[in-house]
Amino acid sequence: MHFILYGTLPALDVFNRPKWAYGLRIHDACERRGRFDAGEFVEQFGDEGAKDGYCLYKVGCKGPYTFNNCSKQKFNQGTSWPVQAGHGCMGCSEPDFWDKMGIVHEPLGDRLYHTAFGGLGSDATADKIGVGILTVTAIGIAAHAAISLIKNPKE
Ligand code: SF4
Repeated sequence: MHFILYGTLPALDVFNRPKWAYGLRIHDACERRGRFDAGEFVEQFGDEGAKDGYCLYKVGCKGPYTFNNCSKQKFNQGTSWPVQAGHGCMGCSEPDFWDKMGIVHEPLGDRLYHTAFGGLGSDATADKIGVGILTVTAIGIAAHAAISLIKNPKE
């Protein structure tokens, strides 16, 4: 369809997935991202944080490791999606997700996120999946890139 519409093949990521759909992480456009950056986390399902829409990372959300556009497109013609409904992303579109995305309701023990603030944070691109210490500058750059892609999805 991309070729019919634009006369070219779409840009692909390292897994040969079209970047227009897989170029951003779930985490980059998630409506709970502000909660993540603020260190506001659901500690267990049903707690006050869950009721207030806090980030689901600590109850197993794999959005920081998952490249897809669910958080932009949502499901059922934009009705909702798992994170909006209160359950973390399972990373189901990632290669070998069943073996590599760990326990559904726990963070990945081998890829924990840390920030300069002693909390949690992350950044990565579709071609270089990385986890590490972030600075405020890096967070700002990632946010700017995500907003640019949302505004100009054809780029
Ligand atoms: S960890 Fe999950 S719930 Fe939290 S901001 Fe990222 S994608 Fe959204």
